[in-house]
Amino acid sequence: MSGACVWTSSAGAWPAQAFGPSEAADLVVVGGGILGLSTALRAVRSGRSVRVIEASDIGTGASGLNGGQVIPGLKYDPETLIERLGVKRGEALARFGAATADAVFDLIEREHLAVPRQRKGWIQAAHTQAAADAAGRRARQWQARGVDARVLSASDIAELTGAKGYVGGWLDPRAGVIDPLAYTRELARLATEAGARIATNTRASRVERRALSRTPSRAAIASGIKWASLIGARSTSDTPSRNESTSPAARRLASRVLPTPPVPTSVTNRDSARCRRSS
Ligand SMILES: Cc1cc2nc3c(=O)[nH]c(=O)nc-3n(C[C@H](O)[C@H](O)[C@H](O)COP(=O)(O)OP(=O)(O)OC[C@H]3O[C@@H](n4cnc5c(N)ncnc54)[C@H](O)[C@@H]3O)c2cc1C
Repeated sequence: MSGACVWTSSAGAWPAQAFGPSEAADLVVVGGGILGLSTALRAVRSGRSVRVIEASDIGTGASGLNGGQVIPGLKYDPETLIERLGVKRGEALARFGAATADAVFDLIEREHLAVPRQRKGWIQAAHTQAAADAAGRRARQWQARGVDARVLSASDIAELTGAKGYVGGWLDPRAGVIDPLAYTRELARLATEAGARIATNTRASRVERRALSRTPSRAAIASGIKWASLIGARSTSDTPSRNESTSPAARRLASRVLPTPPVPTSVTNRDSARCRRSS
């Protein structure tokens, strides 16, 4: 297996511009990942002048290297959100989380983005009874909100994936997978075509507040954990995170390579293709 990034972008390059330090804009976005480019696109389409400053190249951050899973919802289930925030705000936040996958797939369709994708759902498989019970509760909370979620038994999981050791789980039909590098680059293309200007290989070294004689400029910091260094704060963490993927396994093989307990890291390190930054 190769050690290269699995994502191969079908999106083309776009003409990145250089701009001088004295050039004013309504909004300067620091960081050309999905967050920064979505912000830039929304702002430029609402009539603002926008500049994006990217330290490296588009898609070299987490946005171009991630697992590509587009899974609606937030870390907390709807009922937990309601418990913590009350019915009105909790349901509003749950609705926002629920809409995220549609937002991505709808944008791809509407703008005809060259982003390889599949929308066939997502299975959260549980390896303990406690995890299976939690998966069942999660599925039922979404079912109560009109989602065609399925609670899965051990045999459902084995039938759907070939993996035999799981206790149960649930299937969220709203989810899918995209090529995140292509998506990030396509966002850059859309933002550029709408009038945003993007400077790559340009690192923001500090953010200053200044009195301005014309329309107030704004800065959006969308540069991940490194934002803290821009304002002199301590960076929050630098937790290493790795994503691995393999080609789809044949059914007989799947039942052997996805056992419970989890595959030892010595095996996954040897046999998995790793997604690395390419220079
Ligand atoms: C291994 C891994 C797997 C993941 N899998 C998934 C998944 O399957 N599904 C999912 O939804 N999410 C996943 N995520 C999370 C997802 O990738 C991130 O939430 C998302 O990409 C964050 O986008 P971003 O634009 O904020 O950050 P980034 O894409 O990291 O963009 C930040 C950009 O800022 C630039 N920058 C930094 N400092 C400066 C500076 N001083 N000046 C100028 N530019 C600067 C960087 O070069 C970078 O391009 C995963 C994350 C990781 C790490």
